[in-house]
Amino acid sequence: MSTATVRFLGAAGTVTGSKHLVTVGKHQVLLDCGLFQGPKDLRQRNWNPPPIDLDRLDAVVLSHAHIDHTGYLPVLVRHGYRGPVYCTPATADLARLLLPDSAHLQEEQAEYANYHGFSRHKPALPLCTMEDAQATLELLQPRPYDELFEVHPELRVVYRPAGHILGSATVSLEIGDKPLRLVFSGDLGRWDRPVLPDPVTVAEADVLLCESTYGNRVHPPDPVEGLARVVREAANRGGALIIPAFAVGRTQELLWHLRRLEEQRAIPVLPVYVDSPLAIEVTDVYRRHREDHDEEMTAIMNDGARPFATRQFAFAPSRQESIKINDLVGPVIIVSASGMATGGRVLHHLAQRLPDARTTVMLVGFQAQGTRGRSLQDGAREVRMFGHEVTVRARVESLHGMSAHADREELLRWLRGFERPPHRTYLVHGEPNAAAALTDTIGTKLGWTVRPAVDGEEVTIGAV
Ligand SMILES: [Zn+2]
Repeated sequence: MSTATVRFLGAAGTVTGSKHLVTVGKHQVLLDCGLFQGPKDLRQRNWNPPPIDLDRLDAVVLSHAHIDHTGYLPVLVRHGYRGPVYCTPATADLARLLLPDSAHLQEEQAEYANYHGFSRHKPALPLCTMEDAQATLELLQPRPYDELFEVHPELRVVYRPAGHILGSATVSLEIGDKPLRLVFSGDLGRWDRPVLPDPVTVAEADVLLCESTYGNRVHPPDPVEGLARVVREAANRGGALIIPAFAVGRTQELLWHLRRLEEQRAIPVLPVYVDSPLAIEVTDVYRRHREDHDEEMTAIMNDGARPFATRQFAFAPSRQESIKINDLVGPVIIVSASGMATGGRVLHHLAQRLPDARTTVMLVGFQAQGTRGRSLQDGAREVRMFGHEVTVRARVESLHGMSAHADREELLRWLRGFERPPHRTYLVHGEPNAAAALTDTIGTKLGWTVRPAVDGEEVTIGAV
């Protein structure tokens, strides 16, 4: 008889660095392999030696492709990991775009530090390289939804749709012969959203690891009416509508809504440009993975229609095409990354058009403290870009309610899918306030035994 344990190595008391180590006898499996992002003290942890004995690690099992769940993989590989990395087919295709993109960013940062000479290390080395990312992609082992697969003789896994981004999954583990059931929610999405299926509930868990990102929040109702209003007003003002948007999920959802609003004649037909090479490639992955489409998306694809294309629609993959957008006058919609205006091509559009009072900027997601997006949201009259102060005369709008994360009520809805309460529930992937609030809510409304996971702790989940 051996015991099974879980050790929380990331996304405990915070929302990035998702890593949970499951040990069964001599076998170890890592659930998610995420990068710490955001504040410097967190990012610094990416540079510590891997907190795992790589010789003992049998496999990595990913919930979805976001970098805070996958971005540490190339670092693991850099330190010698060569085992399998399981994920859904769409997660594999997104990782093929996102991991090299992330590694490229790491290389750029190291180069920048060397150029300006502000690194403690000489020369500054990247956290991981493109080569590490490419080697990681060789290890991906796609597995479809709803099919039990063996990770090692003591452990089997099944993925179910989580409705968060394309390919996102909840992970159900069966440990041992008379199985101990450990369920990891991954990041949970929302019901009745475009393109993706609703989160699928899970019937049974002995122990549950559940995300709590918005455990203390209820999202505002449907954002589509707000989107239509901003587009109409931007068109009346006669200038560009610039939408900084994340390449994965947010861009596709926006395009979907813009197409629908045009069809319903709720907005005028305007030229729409998607100016982000990554978003363009991701949109193609979104189109291709039909196993991740809901009924409406499937129907559109079966009709041969283009779900993400408005009437006057263009991608700008090359630099030349991007630069040409600068010459456009009159109402035009420009969707471009990054979502918080921290980098990417959107900066060029903002630098050019923020001083123009006819311009509208629409922020569609959470804007973290210290980002340009946040400064704009807070009403800054000037923002710094490319070494200059840029005057802001543009109107800035914030569209709330487009989150890809379940809110408190949606988390409860998913939790109510369990036929009996898990013996124990640990809340991960939440800031302390959110995790504490959700702990109270689950305790009060469901009567379960639940608490936030503590960073670094190891809990025994049973004997097998
Ligand atoms: Zn996510």
